[in-house]
Amino acid sequence: MGLKLFNTLTRSVQEFVPVDPADKRVGMYCCGPTVHDFAHIGNFRTFVFADLVRRYLEFKGYAMTQVMNITDVEDKIIKRVRESGAPLREYTGKLEAAFFEDLRTLGCLSPHQTPRATAHIPEIIALIEKLIERGIAYKAADGSVYFSIEKYRGCGCRYGQLLNLNFDGLRPGERVSADEYAKESIADFALWKARAPEDGEVFWPSPWGEGRPGWHIECSAMSMKILGPSFDLHLGGEDLIFPHHEDEIAQSEGAGLQPPGQPFVKYWLHGAHLMVEGKKMAKSLGNFFTLRDLLAKGFTGREIRSLLLKAHYRESFNFTLEGLADARTSLARLDECLAKLRELAGNVTAPADAGLSEKFSTALDEDLNVSAGWRVVFDWVRETNRLLTEAKLAPAQAAATLAAWQRIDSVFGIGEKAEAEAPAEIVALLERRQAARGARDFKSADAIRNELKAKGWVIEDTPRGPRLKQV
Ligand code: AMP
Ligand code: ZN
Repeated sequence: MGLKLFNTLTRSVQEFVPVDPADKRVGMYCCGPTVHDFAHIGNFRTFVFADLVRRYLEFKGYAMTQVMNITDVEDKIIKRVRESGAPLREYTGKLEAAFFEDLRTLGCLSPHQTPRATAHIPEIIALIEKLIERGIAYKAADGSVYFSIEKYRGCGCRYGQLLNLNFDGLRPGERVSADEYAKESIADFALWKARAPEDGEVFWPSPWGEGRPGWHIECSAMSMKILGPSFDLHLGGEDLIFPHHEDEIAQSEGAGLQPPGQPFVKYWLHGAHLMVEGKKMAKSLGNFFTLRDLLAKGFTGREIRSLLLKAHYRESFNFTLEGLADARTSLARLDECLAKLRELAGNVTAPADAGLSEKFSTALDEDLNVSAGWRVVFDWVRETNRLLTEAKLAPAQAAATLAAWQRIDSVFGIGEKAEAEAPAEIVALLERRQAARGARDFKSADAIRNELKAKGWVIEDTPRGPRLKQV
């Protein structure tokens, strides 16, 4: 069964066929964080989405190279560096480390490569030189270098591949130097920004004088360096479609490095936003939670991950703490079922139940329909609970479905619940209760059970002996 994905480039759902169809290798680039502050969980919705794409392609047997850059120099960062008084690397280094820690807490696999923009200045300069050589980029009087949309279009290239643009409103010669700008102000954009007093110590030498790269050129240079001039998948949140990704295409295809007829990127995937009361969760709106805020409220990484993976990636959804509490309840149901299956299976092993993992992959093949994937999982949980209650499940069946769950979880990445370790005092009470039962002193055994319950622990008697569970 083939995987289908919605490609922003063609505005349609297409079967996924890698650039090199004979090869099971796939290159994927996702625009990473701009390390000007802690990432919020809206940002992480996009990064968890990228992790899902990578994991599902691996599930399908592809050998992935996942690249996620770190934008460690751009307008917002420079402003923060100026305010903090710290050197650039010191400022961004701490936020970068926090970002990777958060990514791990959310159960994301480490991308294979995480290039930093500041470590790729020579590649960025070489790409700009190539664009100048081809007549598509030009130096302005202040030493900045701009990308000429008119010259690019004059070469027969199309600006506006991801977004249909109306060029009638465009006044030729207009320029924009900011990294972020709106569709209404479409214009020549900065590739290299001449050093300005407010940049402080953040500058590099270049053939055009001291300065720093624009944001868009960073991603073109790093992605093509690592994955080649034409690669399979490029991801980001939907707000990056314009101008960032449109400009990435223009720079990368403008440099003309692709084999004839091949695009810079074959499939562009964009994740919808995480919202708060109908508005995009954003730093600028102040309506955000960082991962750390939610951990401090007692939620776990896997609970937050499961919430971020609940809706289809092209659907925006509202983040609420109630939604997170619901995710906790659903996970608890799943954990409970898995624990019972493990007890039943004991040491028995069996090949994965093909029916279950096939149902799951049929759901995910449809443009990564995770909601349908979760339905498969929770239908299975319900059915399993019924069979367990009726004592109709054999250990080998339990083992087979557990093995199928392992396959499914290689994609969802929820993992196992960390069993809360019972403190020594509680374990001692359990041992006393066992001794009382052994001596047929059921009165004392029940009293100890009640004492444990008062301390927040229940005893579950299982075929493999008693188990302590926190309530
Ligand atoms: P930034 O660090 O601002 O460059 O953003 C990193 C990633 O987070 C980009 O792919 C953005 O598109 C994405 N992003 C920003 N806000 C949200 C949001 N509220 N929901 C989902 N993704 C977002
Ligand atoms: Zn990017």
